[in-house]
Amino acid sequence: MKKNVIIIGAGHAGIQAAASLREEGFEGSICIFSEDADFPYQKPPLSKGYLDGSQQKNSIMFRSEAWYENNQVELKLGELVDKVDVSQNTVYATSGVYTFDFLVFATGAYNRELPIPIKGTDQPLYLRTMKDADYLKVALDQENVQDILVIGGGFIGLEIAAYAAKSGKKVTVVEYQPRLMQRVLPPMLSEHFAAKHKAYGVDLRMGVGVQALNQDSRWTASLSTGETVAADQVVVGIGVLPSQNLAQQAGIKCSNGIEVNEFCETSATGVFAIGDCALHPNPFAGGGMVRLESVQNAVDQAKAIASTICGKPVSYHQVPWFWTHQYNLKLQMAGLSEGYDQLIVRGDVEGDKFSVFYFKNNQLIAVDSINKPADHLQARKWIQASYTPDVQKLSDDSIKLNEC
Ligand SMILES: Cc1cc2nc3c(=O)[nH]c(=O)nc-3n(C[C@H](O)[C@H](O)[C@H](O)COP(=O)(O)OP(=O)(O)OC[C@H]3O[C@@H](n4cnc5c(N)ncnc54)[C@H](O)[C@@H]3O)c2cc1C
Repeated sequence: MKKNVIIIGAGHAGIQAAASLREEGFEGSICIFSEDADFPYQKPPLSKGYLDGSQQKNSIMFRSEAWYENNQVELKLGELVDKVDVSQNTVYATSGVYTFDFLVFATGAYNRELPIPIKGTDQPLYLRTMKDADYLKVALDQENVQDILVIGGGFIGLEIAAYAAKSGKKVTVVEYQPRLMQRVLPPMLSEHFAAKHKAYGVDLRMGVGVQALNQDSRWTASLSTGETVAADQVVVGIGVLPSQNLAQQAGIKCSNGIEVNEFCETSATGVFAIGDCALHPNPFAGGGMVRLESVQNAVDQAKAIASTICGKPVSYHQVPWFWTHQYNLKLQMAGLSEGYDQLIVRGDVEGDKFSVFYFKNNQLIAVDSINKPADHLQARKWIQASYTPDVQKLSDDSIKLNEC
């Protein structure tokens, strides 16, 4: 008898899971539920090309409508799954009750909200969905909107800040931590990005919290320093939380995400979790449990579970990588740099074309490259193969990378 798969979530993880299942020869039915009513699209361009208008709606769709039809992948758009019963292998969605042989949580993450008092008729803006991006673009592009306050100096906040500053707006970024993107970058890269933002006139307030927001004809933000910042629009990017409530209510083990083993299997038989929602053991984090918010992780975990569902169990073992694009700085990150004890910078820092190599116990663990895509690709291969280049050679720019 043919088995069937239900996938909850139509982001990178959910759509890739369906595609990989078909590529692996899975012949049963595949049904994807998406609470988002828009045809499935990629999220990274929402704060980059889609926001600045260089990418249009049709260029950020995962697949064409014909692909879903040809591959018999049923899409249930605008349909929230609001309950899962793992003992009965059923999900409860807006349109009814469905049974499954395999269930995949690809529910992603949702924006963390500002935990402060907010007074006024409007709310600050957040970015997660295409609808949010459409709204944000209209809101930021208005001529009478000149002062933008961005709360949060992480990837998304800074990508939006860069867009607004390039559009000639006066931007203030307020970040609680002492430096930008502190969670993932070393001080020298935080400073490099800070210098670029400042060159575009962005007012960076570091180590400062926003304590209250008041909206009248404009916004006023009260800062922990006692100062206030006035703004026409406020955008918040202070991180995300895993969408795990559904799994938790179904009795599946969750903590900071839906807990899975190396095959992305949850504590319930036949039930998987992949992508932003999955707390998984990662070989590149020393085997520790991590939750990654990246396209790479979502896509590679989806491929792994498709193979496992098709009877060829594959443990998840891929180098994490991520990117961000602000002004002319295209940062590509490979591996996880946390806990590094040595770093080597190679390339032209002034010219915005260089890489930072991170070592821990004399082992290469991660590489961040700015405008050096070839270094990034080489780094991914090295880290995947647990290869550590010669540090002396690496420090010498005249020696080619593939000879290190
Ligand atoms: C603006 C923005 C910029 C980003 N930039 C980058 C970048 O540059 N590089 C990078 O690697 N990553 C980036 N990311 C992160 C990346 O998009 C995510 O890591 C990736 O989308 C994860 O895929 P996912 O399928 O796990 O989750 P998602 O893409 O979040 O998809 C999960 C989907 O599940 C749906 N869902 C949740 N619960 C239910 C339910 N109960 N019923 C039905 N549907 C449900 C949600 O509506 C959501 O659409 C960015 C994210 C955003 C928002």
